[in-house]
Formats: sequence, structure tokens, C-alpha cells
Amino acid sequence: MVKLSVLGSGSRGNALVLSCEEGAVIVDMGFSRKELRCRMEKLGIDPSGIRAALLTHEHDDHSKGCRVFCNELSIPLCAAGPTAAYLKRKGKLPDRVLEFEPGQDFHIAGFEISPFAVQHDAVCPVGFVIRRGGCTVGIATDLGDVNALARQRLCDCSALILESNYDAKMLRDSDRQIYLKRRILGRHGHLDNVVALKALEELLTPRTSVLMLAHLSSECNCPELVRNLFETKLRELGRTDLRFEVLSQERPVGPVDLFDHMVAEEYGYAAN
Ligand SMILES: [Zn+2]
Ligand SMILES: [Zn+2]
Repeated sequence: MVKLSVLGSGSRGNALVLSCEEGAVIVDMGFSRKELRCRMEKLGIDPSGIRAALLTHEHDDHSKGCRVFCNELSIPLCAAGPTAAYLKRKGKLPDRVLEFEPGQDFHIAGFEISPFAVQHDAVCPVGFVIRRGGCTVGIATDLGDVNALARQRLCDCSALILESNYDAKMLRDSDRQIYLKRRILGRHGHLDNVVALKALEELLTPRTSVLMLAHLSSECNCPELVRNLFETKLRELGRTDLRFEVLSQERPVGPVDLFDHMVAEEYGYAAN
């Protein structure tokens, strides 16, 4: 059984943990080591079970605690080569590093990891599809656009964690400087609610049983608005059976048991 726990998600910190019988992996460590451990304790996660850390990109809200956390547990950081080189220059790279190339799968801690390139303004940003048995988890927390590659990778996941960063009107009306607005709105910035909403039509399949919306902007989005928009969409799509979460910066979520289709087929029952 694969369990998914989200320690938090937003522009001030992102981290989640996937665990199975063989161990666990943490994806992004955008909180201090102390905060990561505190949130793990709240969710009943034993840090000593974590075998590896995966990093989507170097931005502080994803990498803040990574060096200290990885070194303390003596676990490797799996990062794209250019991301690792950047962290090294900044003195933020842990001692043990496994470099990967976007598009090349690898195995660690009982999971098959598929990193894929995403459009975001970082040195080599990736999303991840992480598989174990009949469980597939798609993670894309920072992306300016759901391009063809992202659509292909994120389609038909058991659990989908997708960015829904901002409401376009709230962003335009905000006090943010014009260059920042342009950055966020661009195809290499962040994903707006409407684009994320539209993407669901293609990404959700009968296999999908969990949907989590991630990386909501604290200034240019509103959790209630996101919840209403997506609940309406899920009703339209006939998918009110999904476990649906609007993730937040403060509130850890989980552990959520993920549905394993291979086990289900063996025992003759289906998710939906
Ligand atoms: Zn970022
Ligand atoms: Zn981010």
C-alpha cells in the first residue's frame, strides 16, 4: 500500500512524502529541517524510514531544508544535474547526490521515478510521476503551462497533485510589481486556476481517485474560490467520488492510502 502525506504546499514551502513497505521518499523540502520534522511527527511519519529525497527545482520554497535534512538522515538527494550544480555553487547541496536527467526513469526505495521537464523559471525544473505496483502519483507543483509533455505524463494517475496558483483577476488587481505579474502570468511562471481546471478534463481518468490542488498563492488566490470552482467541475465531470483536497501552507494532510489497481484487479474489485 502506498501512502501519500503532504507536509504543506504554497509559496512559502512545499514538501510531501510517499511511503510503502520498503521505505519512503520525500519530494521537495521547502521548510526548515525543524519544521519538516515537526510536520512529519504530526502525520505519524518516522523520518528514519525516508530513503531518498527528490527535488523538483532549486527555488527556496522547495529546497530550503534539503541540505541539512538529507545530511542528518544520510540520504541521497536526487536532483537534475543543472539543479545540483546550482545548489553546489550556493553551498546548499547535501553530501550524497544522485543526479538524474529529465525523461530518464530510475528506481529508489521501491518506487519507479519518472522525472519530466516542466515550463517554469528555474534552471532545470521537473515534475515527477512516481509508481509502485498499480499506484501512480503525478506531481506538478510549479509549472507555467500544461504543455503536451505534462499532459501526457500527468494523465491517468491514481493521485494527481497539480498546481492551481492564482486567480488571474486577483493577480492583475494585486499590488505586485509589473515584472512579477508578468513572470507569474507567463508560460514559465505559475499555473492559473482556469488552466488547471481545464486540464482536469484531460488528466482525470477512471483510475484517478485522489486530486490535490497545490501551491495556491496566498495573495492572489482564495482557497474557497478554488474549492468551489473545482467542486463544480468535478460534478460536471461526474467525479464527485474523488478524494479532493485544496492544499495549504499551514495544514499538513494525510496519510492518504492510495488505491492500487493491480491489487484491486487481483481481488476482483474496481475503484469506481
Ligand atoms: Zn518555483
Ligand atoms: Zn514553488
